[in-house]
Amino acid sequence: MKKEVILKVKDNFVKELKAGNPLIHSDAIMNGKDLKEEGAIIQLVDERSRFIGRGYYGKQNKGTGWVLTQNEKEELDQSFFDKKIKAALSERATFFKSNDTTAFRVFNGEGDGIGGLTIDYFDGYYLLTWYSEGIYSFKETILHSLTALADYKGVYEKKRFNTKGTYVEDDDFVMGERGEFPLIVKENGVNFAVYLNDGAMVGVFLDQRDVRKTIRDQYANGKTVLNMFSYTGAFSVFAAKGGALKTTSVDLANRSRAKTIEQFSINAIDAESQDIIVEDVFHYLKYAVKKQVAFDMVILDPPSFARSKKHTFSAAKDYKNLLKDTIAITNKNGVIVASTNASGFGMKKFKGFIEGAFKETGEKFKYMEEFSLPCDFKTIREFPEGNYLKVVFIQKLS
Ligand code: SAH
Repeated sequence: MKKEVILKVKDNFVKELKAGNPLIHSDAIMNGKDLKEEGAIIQLVDERSRFIGRGYYGKQNKGTGWVLTQNEKEELDQSFFDKKIKAALSERATFFKSNDTTAFRVFNGEGDGIGGLTIDYFDGYYLLTWYSEGIYSFKETILHSLTALADYKGVYEKKRFNTKGTYVEDDDFVMGERGEFPLIVKENGVNFAVYLNDGAMVGVFLDQRDVRKTIRDQYANGKTVLNMFSYTGAFSVFAAKGGALKTTSVDLANRSRAKTIEQFSINAIDAESQDIIVEDVFHYLKYAVKKQVAFDMVILDPPSFARSKKHTFSAAKDYKNLLKDTIAITNKNGVIVASTNASGFGMKKFKGFIEGAFKETGEKFKYMEEFSLPCDFKTIREFPEGNYLKVVFIQKLS
């Protein structure tokens, strides 16, 4: 049993923690110097030593640890982790039964009761992502819960330990059978090639599942589609499957061309009939605006922060300008899918960028629909920052 460190919480942080916000801010703690080893169990108390919650110490970009229980009698032992993992697995029961979708999130951090840990499922393989040294120190206990409760072929992991959340290079295989990669998983009947042991990213972002399906089923037919920041081209594949006239995928990373060709190929789409452009989006946009190239549908899914040779992009600062150029290359009645995973601002502010961009370009628009995280990416009301995804479908009217 780990030793418990008692931490005093400053008055102005008590209310939020008591209301169930599980994130422990580093500046909330009065005696932070008592925190020595990540993974230590901490008991939070108020200035009059009354119990607030029990959690662990783990440094992330987000904070200094997570509260795991507000019940003073609950210990953070094997049965605690069993209970959380069991509940999460059973909430995904319909996903496990699906033949059409074999990749989804099984455990979503604080949404499922353990901040700092996510678990994804890829057709029999489980991928655990550890967001701090602290949560990693519970690895044996958590693996014990998972492997006792779930049928698995193999288990892989990603370590994202430092405070920036960057990936720690390693052999990511943990136990069971090693997978053969690419592993072909399905999402709503579409194939994805996934690599669980090849760096930080596996080939697909599962949180966009509902958006991809909507593009395929309701928007793509007969349209020319531009997919910017396309990565492995997942949106392009769904658009092509939905009957798009042609897709154009733009990403800066060299690997994106081969990865996108691969995703098309495993879905019996001729990659030759699609455009795949390896280029800085900001450069491409300049070219497209100048040449008056335009599309019926433009998907815009930039990272929250990106640095290329010439450009630093921050969603919070630069999204509006990115949209202005996007509006310029969208046909009348065309649809822009504006997406961001920036957790620093919410839907309201995001819509402010959209409205500002249309206003400044003098174009009219209509909101069609909007998305946040899908249900397997479970979030809790007490921690709204956890619901980071914002996707808005906008029709350009003029
Ligand atoms: N939309 C993708 C995920 C995007 S991930 C999907 O649905 O799967 C972010 C991608 O943006 C990365 O592939 C990265 O290479 C790319 N990127 C970052 N900065 C860029 C830039 N300036 N121009 C083009 N691509 C960029």
